[in-house]
Amino acid sequence: MAERIKVMFSEEEVAQKVEELGRKISEDYAGKEIHLICVLKGSVFFVCELAKRITIPVSMDFMSVSSYGDGTSSSGVVKIAKDLDEALEGKDVLVVEDIVDTGRTLSYLLEILAKRKPNSMKLCTLLDKPSRRVVDVKVDYTGFQIPDEFVVGYGLDYAQKYRNLPYIGVVEGVE
Ligand code: 5GP
Repeated sequence: MAERIKVMFSEEEVAQKVEELGRKISEDYAGKEIHLICVLKGSVFFVCELAKRITIPVSMDFMSVSSYGDGTSSSGVVKIAKDLDEALEGKDVLVVEDIVDTGRTLSYLLEILAKRKPNSMKLCTLLDKPSRRVVDVKVDYTGFQIPDEFVVGYGLDYAQKYRNLPYIGVVEGVE
């Protein structure tokens, strides 16, 4: 069966949500500078749009991690494939994620980053699947809570496809 994408959140709905998050973050961090950390590759679209909606000074850095797992779920043992360029010491850090699923990858990552002594560290995710959580992770800013469905678009891929969709959808017709 050919794959079809069912829209879960339209381009307009995502844009409106990102604007809301940007406004809230700008208010919460008023008078400060914020250092955004983008976890490649899925978060790239989100971090760019979010940064444009934040009205306080922003700096950005990127890292890439791979999680060892059995293919269907992450183990939480994370290998840093590309580390950050800048130190975190003294910075107000906001880790920006595309989606929090089991929480394994993120909880391990946050532990590593906390050792670098940021002044503060919070987490912002566009999507959250709370029903899938295995490890407790404190999410400070959430775009949408979603059911246990595999979503694509707006940076999220299925076998490296669909990242470029401007909306978030569910792949149908996958065996
Ligand atoms: P966790 O360690 O929280 O289980 O793994 C989170 C990672 O799994 C995300 O950063 C993302 O790469 C991947 N992931 C989890 N759920 C989905 C989903 O519904 N769609 C896509 N494309 N990736 C997902």
